[in-house]
Amino acid sequence: MLIDTHAHLDEQAFDVDRDEVIARARGAGVERILTIGITAATSRAAVELAETHEDVFAVVGIQPNYVSQVQPDDWAAVEELAAHPRVVGIGETGLDRYWDYAPIELQQEYFDRHLELSRDIGKPFIVHCREAEADVVAQLQRSHAEGEGPLNGVMHSFCGGADVAAACVEMGLHISFAGMLTYKRNADLRAVASTVPRDRLLVETDSPYLAPVPLRGKRNEPANVMHTAKCLAEQVGVSFEDLARQTSDNARRLFSLP
Ligand SMILES: [Zn+2]
Repeated sequence: MLIDTHAHLDEQAFDVDRDEVIARARGAGVERILTIGITAATSRAAVELAETHEDVFAVVGIQPNYVSQVQPDDWAAVEELAAHPRVVGIGETGLDRYWDYAPIELQQEYFDRHLELSRDIGKPFIVHCREAEADVVAQLQRSHAEGEGPLNGVMHSFCGGADVAAACVEMGLHISFAGMLTYKRNADLRAVASTVPRDRLLVETDSPYLAPVPLRGKRNEPANVMHTAKCLAEQVGVSFEDLARQTSDNARRLFSLP
């Protein structure tokens, strides 16, 4: 049994066979899927999917690449959706210096809003970080210093170094690995994965993107999370079954999943 902690099931890529994709995941032992919003509209779509599919849960927020397109009522919509019982997390949020679609100050403002909302309602946050590791860690450390106790969230599709992973673990965060872990050239990332405490590890697909080896280049889907989990099990030095159980326990605990 596995849990895919990050998919975008509302994406157009799934319009032709969304229900089959979800059924295929169940058939492959993926017992839960978290589907993530990146705008107010896609957050609403995520909630609708979670309302209509037993195995699907929603995460709502505005992804950093979309914060410059936010309409006046969008944030209020996210806040309202966040309270929905099928919503188990806030995000994805964070910083993205790779695409650079929005001024970094605006990305930072929305990152803080998501962190505050997460703290206010007691649901964990999901961090997107692309070529902005130092800024993300600094902002998380400020948030950590302001609040009490560990941070309640996850670094999704992690691709930073061991120092970044350690700083995040230190603050209480979980580290989630996606298909990039399986790519031949990413030996460094696999080495980082083996340094993360087992009770902080998660797996995800980030589907429809980033299909793992041996499906690289194809449309990705939640059933494929097993390939990343197998790769992670090898790095950590445990059986696939143990890794699946551990990461599912971690996901259930972090997101308070049934
Ligand atoms: Zn995502």
